[in-house]
Amino acid sequence: MVRKTFLPFAPPSIGEEEIAEVVDTLRSGWITTGPKTGRFEKAFKEYLGAPAALAVNSCTAALHLALAAAGIGEGDEVITTTMTFAASVNVIEHLRARPVLVDVEPDTLNLDPAQVEKKITGRTRAILPVHYAGHPVEMEPINELARANNLAVVEDAAHALPAGYRGKRVGSGDNPAAFSFYATKNLTTAEGGMLTGSEELLEKARVLSLHGMSRDAWKRYEKGGSWFYEVVSPGYKYNLTDIQAALGLHQLRKLERFQRRRREVVQAYSAAFAGNDALELPVERAGVEHAWHLYVLRLRPEALSIDRDAFIRELERSNIGTSVHFIPIHLHPYYRDRYRFSENDFPVAYENYRRMLSLPLSPGLAESDVSDVIEAVLQVVKRCRR
Ligand SMILES: *Cc1c(COP(=O)(O)O)cnc(C)c1O
Repeated sequence: MVRKTFLPFAPPSIGEEEIAEVVDTLRSGWITTGPKTGRFEKAFKEYLGAPAALAVNSCTAALHLALAAAGIGEGDEVITTTMTFAASVNVIEHLRARPVLVDVEPDTLNLDPAQVEKKITGRTRAILPVHYAGHPVEMEPINELARANNLAVVEDAAHALPAGYRGKRVGSGDNPAAFSFYATKNLTTAEGGMLTGSEELLEKARVLSLHGMSRDAWKRYEKGGSWFYEVVSPGYKYNLTDIQAALGLHQLRKLERFQRRRREVVQAYSAAFAGNDALELPVERAGVEHAWHLYVLRLRPEALSIDRDAFIRELERSNIGTSVHFIPIHLHPYYRDRYRFSENDFPVAYENYRRMLSLPLSPGLAESDVSDVIEAVLQVVKRCRR
């Protein structure tokens, strides 16, 4: 049985609370960065137990600010994973620094700390781990390498809300961590992001996030605020609006509920696919809390007569939307040509990329949606056995 309507891969879960709060903002006379952004920052910081939080208009902006505030610039090397979204690496290029890519671990697809160590040179200034799919990176060896070599660590936590490593929330420490509130992410403000980290670094990032204007400029349109401001560096325009923060305030309140539902869906998928020799399931290592942003299924080509691309087309014909996370960075023309990469420079990432797909995963999935996905996947496997 093919379901009648298309099941989108990751639609947002927006309720009446979010809608009413946005309308309230529109009627309030204050629509850009203001009191709701302040409340959202405070609530987010308290939720994670982070030292400080800065709301921005994307995770990309948060990553850019964190690297800039850490002083990364021309000629510096930043080590990161090839298995990520382009934004993690583009921001390194924006600062005229050099991204140094490493391969991933075969189970979590997170960057491999042993590979990171091998790529450290005299020019290395930072490590940028990405908590892929929401599974926390093994941070202890990364932080250890950073301490020993005097490097900054900037965490791409776009998928990692909420995730935990050794009893601590990702983004609750002094490393700057960048979160995404893009439409498909675990918490959404349509577009938006948050940078958490030490108060000292975030103070610099805050100035850079609004034209490089001195702190008090934020208040310049309030009663009692001054018209006077000074530009202390050529900053960016990365502030979040109160319209977006209005969404974030309610999404944050619902996050624990969203996560319970995500976990239920993941458990249903994994129970249904376990033991199938054509499918490799995502893992959750002991001692971590997975944010389950993505459910990445890997096909076993030796058991199937079709490849991943055809598998996705078959699911689409069954009205199931999927995606692929990610086309490794070293395959994109800009990076491939600039750094002369070939496919097999990062063999684990490449081999896994060729056989991965992300199944629908969102808190709004109904029981019938989940069983439609399971049935469609198992039907394709059965039809296309080698
Ligand atoms: C979504 C995403 C980003 C970028 O987030 P934006 O908020 O859209 O800028 C960065 N890194 C990873 C791994 C992502 O998935």
